Amino acid sequence: MVLAQLGGSISRAIQQMSNATIIDEKVLNECLNEITRALLQSDVQFKLVRDMQTNIKKIVNLDDLAAGHNKRRIIHQAIFNELCKMLDPGKPSFTPKKGKTSVVMFVGLQGSGKTTTCTKYAYYHQKKGWKPALVCADTFRAGAFDQLKQNATKAKIPFYGSYMESDPVKIAAEGVERFKKENCDLIIVDTSGRHKQEAALFEEMRQVSEATKPDLVIFVMDSSIGQAAFDQAQAFKQSVAVGAVIVTKMDGHAKGGGALSAVAATKSPVIFIGTGEHMDEFEVFDVKPFVSRLLG
Ligand code: GDP
Repeated sequence: MVLAQLGGSISRAIQQMSNATIIDEKVLNECLNEITRALLQSDVQFKLVRDMQTNIKKIVNLDDLAAGHNKRRIIHQAIFNELCKMLDPGKPSFTPKKGKTSVVMFVGLQGSGKTTTCTKYAYYHQKKGWKPALVCADTFRAGAFDQLKQNATKAKIPFYGSYMESDPVKIAAEGVERFKKENCDLIIVDTSGRHKQEAALFEEMRQVSEATKPDLVIFVMDSSIGQAAFDQAQAFKQSVAVGAVIVTKMDGHAKGGGALSAVAATKSPVIFIGTGEHMDEFEVFDVKPFVSRLLG
């Protein structure tokens, strides 16, 4: 279910409940079940949805509803708060400071949009007066360096990589070293992905992280991976210190639920979303406006 539909389904469920003459437990349950279904169809993890349902039942006082006061508002507010809570891990991610060198390492499966997102992230900061640089430590995918080089050249961002060297750890360390000497304040390390989660990938991520000592590790996730989001995010979190999430491909047929799962699995906030293939199709992620839009 795409985001707009999710908002519609939730609003309809609340409307139906509000229309009932008597709001008793049965009517409230029906409403919550309807909302649960909508969230599951949007790929929110089952456990998260179940917890949310339990929490809402605890918060919403049936007597208040029965009295007929602002039924819509009470339920709507409770759902809004719960969704915000799901997307807020309680602490902000590390935020790089302009003029002070930070190393940011990107991880994620192949095809998640990692390389594209690295450039978007660099470009976003460059426009704000930073001195970013890109390091291509993806030696697994043929063409990865060319892609990064092409994107970086277009955006006039310095880059580092190699056609000859096959050791990603060595390239990552060399690239970071070079750009530190050049006083870049945002050194972005793009890493390899695989089509699926596998031990070799996670070991490589651990080693690249050890060699580059990133201030922040960003997990990049394709919003259309659905229910797999939680396990995937958790697997990365277990090998490197993921501190933030970027959800890509939120345009088109994007489902929103994966974002909620990734936050739960990594205990890290979503900081940006990708909304297209172009360099500037990239937005700062803000929980409250996102949930407001979600609820319609
Ligand atoms: P990587 O293998 O993780 O490095 O993925 P790429 O950066 O090569 O991206 C894979 C594909 O997804 C490319 O065709 C990108 O243009 C596309 N892509 C990346 N981010 C977005 C996005 O936010 N929206 C859309 N529609 N496509 C995206």
